[in-house]
Amino acid sequence: MARTPGPHRELRGATVRESLREALLEEPCTARDLSRAVGIPEREVPEHLEHLMRSLPHRGEALEVEPCRCLDCGFVPRRHPLKRPGHCPECRGRRLSLPRFRIEARSGRRPGRPKGSRRRDRQERDV
Ligand SMILES: [Zn+2]
Repeated sequence: MARTPGPHRELRGATVRESLREALLEEPCTARDLSRAVGIPEREVPEHLEHLMRSLPHRGEALEVEPCRCLDCGFVPRRHPLKRPGHCPECRGRRLSLPRFRIEARSGRRPGRPKGSRRRDRQERDV
């Protein structure tokens, strides 16, 4: 009768995105890296990243995308920056680099920063 499949799915999605965020705070990742780190299929990564893109500014962070480019002609397809097309729209070549993602903390604007970034700051200062 009262079946609620929705919340469970959404809960899992939120956990996945939190794991993606942690991976991206560590180092720049491709969709393939992220699928391996978080344990979701590579094709599901872009939709989670889109969610993440919208929620990150609330924490004073931003998702930075290094777009894919064609290794043959250097063309950068910009229509779907989170995904890699099967071939280059310019030269039809299939050698395209994977887009890379990372999270930038926009520090200095908010007093309440997450624990992880504060620890990283201290390490950098000591070096
Ligand atoms: Zn090309």
